[in-house]
Amino acid sequence: MLQKHIKDELIILKRNTVNEKDTLIIAFGRFSGKILLKARGSKNINSRFIGRLEPLTVIKAQIYNSGKSLTLTGAEAITAPPLAPSYRNFEINQIICKILCSTLPNEEANPSIFEDLKEVIEVIREETKEDEALLIFYMKYLKDSGHLPVLNQCFSCTSKLTDSAYMDGRGHLLCNACAKENEGYINLSVEQLKVMNYYSSTPTKRALGLTLPDRTKEELKENLPKIVDRSFD
Ligand SMILES: [Zn+2]
Repeated sequence: MLQKHIKDELIILKRNTVNEKDTLIIAFGRFSGKILLKARGSKNINSRFIGRLEPLTVIKAQIYNSGKSLTLTGAEAITAPPLAPSYRNFEINQIICKILCSTLPNEEANPSIFEDLKEVIEVIREETKEDEALLIFYMKYLKDSGHLPVLNQCFSCTSKLTDSAYMDGRGHLLCNACAKENEGYINLSVEQLKVMNYYSSTPTKRALGLTLPDRTKEELKENLPKIVDRSFD
């Protein structure tokens, strides 16, 4: 980043108070990628940033680049998380921010991740289908970051996967015949594989229209976090 004054759209991921006056923010910018910024006076009750630096708030930002560090000089909220979220809503917000903070590369723009994340944030904000939105986030993030496993073919023998499959420790899918030493493998039913495929390839709003059987939903809630963990190891 060579410019002194930068305009970017940012998704706030984390906020840390460093002293009485200042806040350090980790944000994901449409053009800047994951960056660390300082916001001066943001703890002050009269701060112009108040309510705009909560995790998963989307802001139009003005940034000053000193060459050594970045300072937020202007913030206009585009979308903000609910003011009084349910516990589950708050938890999902934290899960997404934690994954992005620890796995996004620094200062590397990725417009697909940015756009998909914005759509997921809009759904979470409505507080109706937030569990499905989280599952969609996992699949979109795997895809947009280049970590989506091949979902229809065995990694070892390349035969087409028509039955349930297993995911090994490196995030590869194996057919039943190839998955012999299956300790620690994640078992994925045909139903789960179908939903994973649909969620990774369908726009978020349309993907939400899919009715998930309770069992498949519960299985995916358990398995997708593990799959993301494995894929980014
Ligand atoms: Zn195989």
